[in-house]
Amino acid sequence: MINIAIDGPSGAGKSTAAKAIAKRLNILYLDTGAMYRALALKAVRLGVDPNDKAAVEEFLPNVQVDVVYQDGTMQIYLDGEEVSGYIREHHISKGASDISKIPAVRLKLVELQRAIACKNDVVLDGRDITSFVLPDAKYKFYLTAAPEVRARRRYLELLAKGQDVQYERILADVIDRDYNDSHRDFAPLVQTPDSVYIDSSDKSIDEVVELILSYIK
Ligand code: C5P
Repeated sequence: MINIAIDGPSGAGKSTAAKAIAKRLNILYLDTGAMYRALALKAVRLGVDPNDKAAVEEFLPNVQVDVVYQDGTMQIYLDGEEVSGYIREHHISKGASDISKIPAVRLKLVELQRAIACKNDVVLDGRDITSFVLPDAKYKFYLTAAPEVRARRRYLELLAKGQDVQYERILADVIDRDYNDSHRDFAPLVQTPDSVYIDSSDKSIDEVVELILSYIK
């Protein structure tokens, strides 16, 4: 199986690049962040604080997260409901970052990620794919960009959607999530020595895609 693992902080362009790479190579794309977001949505719906380890561990065994591919596009299901449309909101991003600190949450989702990767050619993006989920993946990349550049991209994206946002607030969120993701005890975001380091600050998505594809034979 061809497994292409891409890690990095939020807003570095991982998912856009990974989707384009999957399309070019005609293989699957697995957005592992969507799985953490689905569990954050579950917590919110139950009125559980995603930081409340005991309460999350209580509902965890009874929650079902599934990944389904429809015409090659990934869809995320929570307890049998397709929830892709509900998981991109700001409070869910924060909730995903919080809930992903809980080891039992990670172990449940990592099992599903490994099961998909061992049966399919797939590009996966996340925080711990190169270090923990698939340390033996054939192709490993660490994609990042300066926090100000990532915050600006997100700011412009939200403005284009007509949302009333402040750049300073988004930058503070980016820095906060970076800290959370790279300082948790279990499977934090790290750059593994065998990952190709790519800084996308001055690169277009097309340039990032071409660069990654140039390493893949
Ligand atoms: O990539 P995305 O921003 O959708 O991920 C949402 C959150 O899920 C991240 O901030 C991170 O805390 C968590 N996550 C993770 N491990 C992954 C993917 C995402 O901890 N492999």
